[in-house]
Amino acid sequence: MRPFTYTRAKTPAEAAAAVAATPGAKFIAGGTNLLDLMKLEIETPAHLVDVQDLQLDRIEPTDNGGLRIGALVTNTSLASDARVRRDYGVLTRAIVAGASGQLRNKATTAGNLLQRTRCPYFYDTNQACNKRKPGSGCAAIGGYSRQLGIIGTSDACIATYPGDMAVAMRVLDATIETIDGAGATRRIAIGDFHRLPGDAPHIDTNLKPGELITAVTLPRPLGGTHVYRKVRDRASYAYALVSVAAVIQKDGTGRAAIGGIAPRPWRSEAAEAAMPQGAKAVADRLLADARPTRDNAFKVPLVARTLSAAIHEATGTTQHPVTQEQGA
Ligand code: SF4
Repeated sequence: MRPFTYTRAKTPAEAAAAVAATPGAKFIAGGTNLLDLMKLEIETPAHLVDVQDLQLDRIEPTDNGGLRIGALVTNTSLASDARVRRDYGVLTRAIVAGASGQLRNKATTAGNLLQRTRCPYFYDTNQACNKRKPGSGCAAIGGYSRQLGIIGTSDACIATYPGDMAVAMRVLDATIETIDGAGATRRIAIGDFHRLPGDAPHIDTNLKPGELITAVTLPRPLGGTHVYRKVRDRASYAYALVSVAAVIQKDGTGRAAIGGIAPRPWRSEAAEAAMPQGAKAVADRLLADARPTRDNAFKVPLVARTLSAAIHEATGTTQHPVTQEQGA
């Protein structure tokens, strides 16, 4: 691990100003992803600003009937909150489908959104990787790509966003609140938060340098039945090959976001209009621009099958047979 300096900030504005003013600085909270990356020298921050004292650890109702989740609320606290379990069940199900109990006790809401890809070549510093070292190439293209993306990718990077929580937040239309180094605040729709790689895959999100996440807000509850289904290579402690976060209403309409297939949680409101015609119709629209590799072409039909299983689970109808499926 490279040497670094360390301070603890007392307010969000102070933390953002400190990172904005210090070249090579990063925020640290739970550290469940960043510390691993620092040990491998994939991340080499010169300075860490610890944000754990910022008192952003509360979940509060909003004026319009939603919830405001502080950036430092742990995954365990968020998943177990009675209001979340009752009104945003897809979020609880997604969170408990990820990582392990120990990690969820430490990982924060903001950190979960900011976790980096699990592309195996990103973690192997002997391999070319445009995300780790811009301009070095992409060993995954033409390499082993079973876990990687089928849509939203580019000729520079085919990595996926690995998380579960954000997939549920995408289906719920969450908004991310931030503060920057000058003290200005803004709100970012979660659909605009993670970037597609284009020719700059080393930039994962649309946050500006030094911009700090302070909260995530959820709109008023959608009602309906909430389902999160995660297909993975083993029953726990594994990233999704495909996941589906769905909220289905009694009349057959609904929403669905897909994880494990793209650089960000993948959702198309236009595709959701086909929900009454069934999962295949939604998936066909959702994946019309898919560019799978030889290794991961299986994900295209798997999206339709997992979505079908989610819809059947939500509506209580006979479950579509889905192989290797693991529910939350
Ligand atoms: Fe790196 Fe992206 Fe290629 Fe993986 S897919 S090796 S993260 S550039």
